[in-house]
Amino acid sequence: MPKKRRERRENCYLCGRSDNLTRDHIPPACLFPEPRPSDLITVPACHRCHDSYKLDDEYFRIFAAAGAPYDDPVGREIWDDKVMGSSLARSQKLRQYIRSCLIDVEIRSPGGLYVGVAPGLTFDKELVDRVIQRIVRGLFHHHYRSRLPADLEFLVLVDPKGKRAFPDVLAQAPKCRIGDGVFAYARKIGKEDPRYSMWWFLFYRSRLLIVFAEPSEDVRTSDGSEHNRAS
Ligand SMILES: [Zn+2]
Repeated sequence: MPKKRRERRENCYLCGRSDNLTRDHIPPACLFPEPRPSDLITVPACHRCHDSYKLDDEYFRIFAAAGAPYDDPVGREIWDDKVMGSSLARSQKLRQYIRSCLIDVEIRSPGGLYVGVAPGLTFDKELVDRVIQRIVRGLFHHHYRSRLPADLEFLVLVDPKGKRAFPDVLAQAPKCRIGDGVFAYARKIGKEDPRYSMWWFLFYRSRLLIVFAEPSEDVRTSDGSEHNRAS
């Protein structure tokens, strides 16, 4: 009965609804150049969830590609064609958003000498966190065919440096590459409790994020400062 498994009822990876489903790309399809690569991951999502974050995805693309344009040809192409050529040309809201993100960044020599300032891009952490949480939930569903509970706490580190950029705990975890390296990820899921997980995401070979997820009651009971769970 090899077909039996396929008949299992699918649920939206975000809210759990089982009716009116479509497929959602993880990470968002707009990060990839067209024609879209054939190895993209999709998970079941209801139309209501799916339609609610389209703008988030475009903002996120700006954030992801902004870390990369000069290092990565695909990131560069996305930046030139999609961000500058399409998103920004089309939407005044996005242009305002970008303007609000522009900051002066100090430029320093490799020796640390102050050289001057140049325009740089800061970003909306809340929005980035929202998209990252969705990617975690989507990948979890993709690998384990089950939905993470809604009440998780996420800690998202953007571009961590040095040892924090690839924590020891992830050293043994296999890296998966999607869309010719546009997105790469590794994961470590709690053996006894899969609600505890740690993720390593790399976009356009340069925008790096480390994500921790855990049940939110632990955060609540630790008076907000340290996560004192015994593990
Ligand atoms: Zn849903």
